[in-house]
Amino acid sequence: MLIRERERERERERGEGKERRKKKAERESETEMDDSALGGASLPSGPDAKKRRVTYFYEPSIGDYYYGQGHPMKPHRIRMSHNLIIHYSLHRRMEINRPFPAGPHDIRRFHSDDYVDFLSSVTPETVHDHTHARNLKRFNVGEDCPVFDGLFSFCQASTGGSIGAAVKLNRQDADIALNWAGGLHHAKKSEASGFCYVNDIVLGILELLKVHRRVLYVDIDVHHGDGVEEAFFTTDRVMTVSFHKFGDFFPGTGHIKDIGAGRGKYYALNVPLNDGIDDASFRGLFRPILQKVMEVYQPDAVVLQCGADSLAGDRLGCFNLSVKGHADCLRFLRSFNVPLMVLGGGGYTIRNVARCWCYETAVAVGVEPDNKLPYNEYYEYFGPDYTLHVEPMPMENLNSAKDLEKIRNMLLEQLSRLPNAPSVQFQTTPPITQVPEEAEEAMDRRPKQRIWNGEEYESDADEDEKPRFQSLNSDSRPGVKTEMRDAADGIKKEIKDETMTDAHTPS
Ligand SMILES: [Zn+2]
Repeated sequence: MLIRERERERERERGEGKERRKKKAERESETEMDDSALGGASLPSGPDAKKRRVTYFYEPSIGDYYYGQGHPMKPHRIRMSHNLIIHYSLHRRMEINRPFPAGPHDIRRFHSDDYVDFLSSVTPETVHDHTHARNLKRFNVGEDCPVFDGLFSFCQASTGGSIGAAVKLNRQDADIALNWAGGLHHAKKSEASGFCYVNDIVLGILELLKVHRRVLYVDIDVHHGDGVEEAFFTTDRVMTVSFHKFGDFFPGTGHIKDIGAGRGKYYALNVPLNDGIDDASFRGLFRPILQKVMEVYQPDAVVLQCGADSLAGDRLGCFNLSVKGHADCLRFLRSFNVPLMVLGGGGYTIRNVARCWCYETAVAVGVEPDNKLPYNEYYEYFGPDYTLHVEPMPMENLNSAKDLEKIRNMLLEQLSRLPNAPSVQFQTTPPITQVPEEAEEAMDRRPKQRIWNGEEYESDADEDEKPRFQSLNSDSRPGVKTEMRDAADGIKKEIKDETMTDAHTPS
């Protein structure tokens, strides 16, 4: 077992070795940001202005996966983010990796055998076969979480990026590891939920726990980070902190009084928020709470889920954060100079998702990009202003100063009950909460929460991107493989294109 694990790791490293490595980060120092000027805190381990070694995971075929017509989850947004990143030349300041697809064996470290068997075998063509039909309910696959072409490969790419990111941090090959295709925080051990099938975050954290004693998980998606919280609810080796809309909102969990259980008591933190929260209110909670968490918990690694559905104007969200306000969370956590994994998550107004994750990539590498967008493959999405940043919406902030103060005080009080830097037992097998298996019948009867009411988006035709490679939506599985190999060259092509246009672009 151990030998197989090591073999897989070596295999993964070989895969990464072939990939493009870009290390030209030592230029144009005048554009480097100094975080100390921006009010970041720092641990003694490193000054804020220090450059970080950043590594980035991107699967070139990720944008071709398609959840279905009218479905708000669009993997295309990851390709749009990547395209902006390339056209801002941010790839020159970080190492680029194509993720090694996570295998069923890797995924089973968290998910149950029967669920992984189902995910890896179901296809749109076989979904209504007798054997699969009853599993759909059992595994909550169907409405929010449809069976689409290449579903399992999509999960493998998303998860492969997060496990790969953890391996880079474990080997101290990077200070910050980015995977915008990750962050799928709702997936459960034996159940899909909220557009998520495989919980890449839990699997990435399990990888980090091989080397790091304590891992901090921070979630700024508008939805509660329920899948990750549940997985680590009874352990003190992972502390989870989720900021989310609470009250008549998916998934319904994340009450401020949910604080963990057993050894994990006080190691889960929930920050319940109301509609319309703005940058100043969010920062007024995020910074003091995370400052205290870093002081008392002293994590050896941090994982930040940057769900972009907390941005103003999101199709499913109800917060009012600007891209800068959202990115301030990353800027603050980066300033502690602790190994940091940065993941995607939700985000359903895809032009803003691309803006956000591109800007956050810039924050990670330490540059301040021009607000004027460079010309890029998806330029028409960004009209009429063609800027990187967007104004918050004119909407009421239903979080009163009094509510916010109460929440802040309750959580700071909870944190004061923690022993400083708990000396956790170093276990080779990290603990995962064992959720008691429900009787199948009870499972079938239980109503499943939905994240999306199923109403099709009144599109913006250009946002409802159709799959570029028709074969991904066709019957032929071998065709999928070929197209994916072809698409894999995309990253080289894009980098080459960018370099070529660079020569013609007036500086
Ligand atoms: Zn979300």
